[in-house]
Amino acid sequence: SGCGICTNRCPFGAVSVINLPEALDEPVHRYGQNSFELFGLPSLKEGTVLGLLGQNGIGKSTIMRILSGELIPNLGNYEEEASWDKVIDYYKGSTLQNYFKSLEAGEIKTIHKPQMVDQLSKVIKGNVKTLLSNVDERAKLGEIVDDLDLKNVLERDMQNLSGGELQRVAIAATVLREGDFYYFDEPTSWLDVRQRLNAVKVIRSLAEAGKSVLVIEHDLATLDAMSDNVHLLYGEPGGYGVVSGNKGVRVGINAYINGFLQEENVRIRKQAIEFSIRPPTPEEDGEVLSEYSKLRKEYDGFTLEAEAGKIYHDEIVTAFGSNGIGKTTFAKILAGVEKASEGDIIEKVDIAYKPQYIESDFDGTAQEFLYANAPNYGSNIFNSEIAKPLALDNLLDKKIKKLSGGELQRLALAVTLSKDADIYLFDEPTAFLDVEQRLIAARVIRKIVESRNAASLIVDHDIVFIDYISDRAMVFSGEPGLNGIASKPSDLRTSMNQFLGDLDITFRRDKETKRPRVNKYDSYLDREQKEQGEYYYLK
Ligand code: ADP
Ligand code: ADP
Ligand code: MG
Ligand code: MG
Repeated sequence: SGCGICTNRCPFGAVSVINLPEALDEPVHRYGQNSFELFGLPSLKEGTVLGLLGQNGIGKSTIMRILSGELIPNLGNYEEEASWDKVIDYYKGSTLQNYFKSLEAGEIKTIHKPQMVDQLSKVIKGNVKTLLSNVDERAKLGEIVDDLDLKNVLERDMQNLSGGELQRVAIAATVLREGDFYYFDEPTSWLDVRQRLNAVKVIRSLAEAGKSVLVIEHDLATLDAMSDNVHLLYGEPGGYGVVSGNKGVRVGINAYINGFLQEENVRIRKQAIEFSIRPPTPEEDGEVLSEYSKLRKEYDGFTLEAEAGKIYHDEIVTAFGSNGIGKTTFAKILAGVEKASEGDIIEKVDIAYKPQYIESDFDGTAQEFLYANAPNYGSNIFNSEIAKPLALDNLLDKKIKKLSGGELQRLALAVTLSKDADIYLFDEPTAFLDVEQRLIAARVIRKIVESRNAASLIVDHDIVFIDYISDRAMVFSGEPGLNGIASKPSDLRTSMNQFLGDLDITFRRDKETKRPRVNKYDSYLDREQKEQGEYYYLK
């Protein structure tokens, strides 16, 4: 069967629903004739965090809009006017009936953090402190400001916040409100690892206070640490989505990774996602592709220092560290967009660079954009190695200005990979991509790097993605906004130990799938691994 994202059979066997359940019930909602249909709804439980995991376009935000009361589901009858009475009648005898009854009667209160926080500053204006004080119904302003590290932005205006700052302000506003049901749509876009775990802490604190929480999240390590239970969504993106039964978080994420939902007897992917456990890379064996001396860059108020380093042919190096620590600055120096104040790129090479913030003021379609910017556009290699896996077909006719975050990201990845370069530099390529697309991106990058005998440097915050793609890694430490120190690229274990040691968190590997999982703070494993200095378990 077709895989849903691609119009043709997916080369990676990535997303085919191979065997569907015999018969689906009536839909909960259908947007219109030949439009997306949603089957099933999750049911929330007091005192727990429920996670939703599924591809882009599979109905996750639709579920949140229904459960938060913003969208009255039409039960498939898109020609008739929807009403809560019909919904309540339809769910007779189930827990959802009580839920919708109370919702309609105004007896329960829902709070919803929307997906697109970057649009918040267009509608919500003013000083952050005033805005947060006005919604502090739970009298927790001080605590939440501390937990989300918002002290430095309190006096700022919403208009002047970065993506990550807006995200944290939006999470704070949601948590501060008094409600019964809390909905978080993709709460970690733009956040670094520490900030993601801080978000986990405040979102979990709602459940600990007895609230019901539903979260949509694509960062598997974060979803894992945040949720008690999950529902997986499967189907055909843009076509229909089906909500799986409720699963424990470990079992649910493992099922997603293995590509098979046992209770439903549904295969969502041909192969399991495999995490390989890499031995330290013997650096002497490789052939050096590029080399830089000790580098220094001074901005007004911020200094970056990088240790001298080498990049080898055929390798993928990831770079991670806090927001505001100099990762993008380093990437720009390497790409030649910025000049170092001191130091040099000794072995100069051609670099293809995908910036963190993708410019989208191009006035034309995605196809016109590709003609103008992708040198190999239309070649066999481009079609088979780039366009097909990144599913560009279904966005070619769309205007660039109308593309979603994930569509724009896939287009930018394609343009960068189409260039003939020695080093492919990607600044935060997983932003707005779903789990499936992140892994496809990883494989496409690997394939292009190897076929061109090139290398890649990738800045990212998704630990599972980093684990999946890295040959080696470099760590940025220091004081965000003041000074950053970039380590030379070294093996993943050394880098992770440094990075996680700074954060004071440990990871273990899931026994079944080998995916990285965050250890609970001060748990037996956490203490044991810290004692051994093994913050990141390779075994
Ligand atoms: P997800 O959050 O899983 O990415 P959404 O729930 O936002 O997915 O959307 C699921 C599908 O429904 C998508 O194909 C989307 O284009 C479609 N859709 C969403 N909102 C509307 C709408 N208001 N009218 C028509 N189609 C919509
Ligand atoms: P990261 O990518 O790790 O989040 P950046 O490299 O973007 O960090 O930024 C590091 C620091 O340098 C930040 O404090 C940022 O405000 C500052 N900075 C970045 N670019 C400039 C610039 N062109 N002029 C002045 N300061 C800058
Ligand atoms: Mg969504
Ligand atoms: Mg950056």
